[in-house]
Amino acid sequence: MYQTPKDLQARALVLARAAFCCAAALGCAKPALAQETTVAPATAVATIVYAGQLLAVPGRPPLVPGTLVLADGTVRAVRAGRPSATELGLPVEGTKTIDLSSSFVMPGFIDLHVHLTMSPGERQIEFVTKPDAYFALVAADAARRTLEAGFTTVRDLGSRGYSVFALRDAIRDGLVPGPKIVAAGAAITPSGGHADINGYREEIRRALPSPGVCNGPDDCRRAVREAVQRGSDVIKVTATGGVLSNVNAGTGQQFTDEELRAIADTAHALGRKVTAHAHAKAGIEAALRAGFDSIEHSMWADEGTLRLFLKTGAWLIPTVYPITYVGDTREKLLRGPYRNAPPAVLDKLLGLGRQPKDMTRLAHQLGVKIALGTDSGVSPNGENANEFVEYVNIGMTPMQALVAGTVDAARAGGFEQVGSLEPGKAADLVAMQGNPLDDIRAVLGVHFVMRDGIVFKGEAR
Ligand SMILES: [Zn+2]
Repeated sequence: MYQTPKDLQARALVLARAAFCCAAALGCAKPALAQETTVAPATAVATIVYAGQLLAVPGRPPLVPGTLVLADGTVRAVRAGRPSATELGLPVEGTKTIDLSSSFVMPGFIDLHVHLTMSPGERQIEFVTKPDAYFALVAADAARRTLEAGFTTVRDLGSRGYSVFALRDAIRDGLVPGPKIVAAGAAITPSGGHADINGYREEIRRALPSPGVCNGPDDCRRAVREAVQRGSDVIKVTATGGVLSNVNAGTGQQFTDEELRAIADTAHALGRKVTAHAHAKAGIEAALRAGFDSIEHSMWADEGTLRLFLKTGAWLIPTVYPITYVGDTREKLLRGPYRNAPPAVLDKLLGLGRQPKDMTRLAHQLGVKIALGTDSGVSPNGENANEFVEYVNIGMTPMQALVAGTVDAARAGGFEQVGSLEPGKAADLVAMQGNPLDDIRAVLGVHFVMRDGIVFKGEAR
């Protein structure tokens, strides 16, 4: 059940300390608490969570059963078995208990690639008829659905206007429900590139803001600096053309090698991760050589490109589920939700087929580091957990898929507070009835969601 806005506001200060103790959770290490010391300070109200199975750290075996002690929005202790409050050194009076002893409990999921202001099938006309505030409300609805699906941290990689920053801050302040958001804002793009304003007549195009546009290395340094000034927690760059932009310029490399190097160096100098939207082989490889931390989509990477990932250590964020949603064959696509896309977009969509899935399979076989990202907004926000299922379909074990959407997504994003349930980390957890290690589709049925110690979905059973 939701807490009332008043309850949420009352938690705002706790949240601010627990989860956002530095700009946008980009790496504020809190000292880990010793596991065998007192599990909660005398002043904090502790909550004990009893789990049927507790996958506290994906990649390691679950505790069956397992117990968590939470206080002040963070994990204080992780124990095997089902110890009582007294056995945990906690007062019986005042200690809360959440009984998830018939459920599988694990860390909240992380999606490194969403677009909360976007929805599938949205019409281009809406961007010139609706105010920015409307898209903030679209994003708030998407954020609630995403959280209810079990995603307690997301990285928003591109939105028009400034609404995603407002939403990020409103969630942080406890005003509306949603996951923690690490936001890029407007993507850095060349003129006419994937994230520029495309498909409008000239007078309208000129009237619409496109703050991420830059051309030439110096101008791109300016664009990155201004993005950080506006509030970008991460720098998203459209290194190549894109499929859904209404421009018939293909999906080849668009930023030059020099521009990409200038962008990556400036982002890193300002303490930001830098990630590239990239489809064509040349553009992916140029971004990797420029020192990008991760590549989104990477659709036309071949074995040579994937070996370059291994060499640079960059993460691949493959965004597979939207391919299924849009249609991975010509027939499915022409019957699917994007069948009425403009001709320039439809042409590019028809060129994809199963390639993104085949690429992801090969990347996994070669040992490329893969972290979960969906591109939700292309597919509906709130359906993000289907990405786990896709990863198992391309050959990951269920455990590897769960790691990609928790521990590894946190590593790829540089988020030190989330991704596992260990002392000192955020009390972000989900519960489901089935065991996802037996059948990954259990992740589609999350019935309980806690973020920063606040229950946003489900009654404890
Ligand atoms: Zn995207």
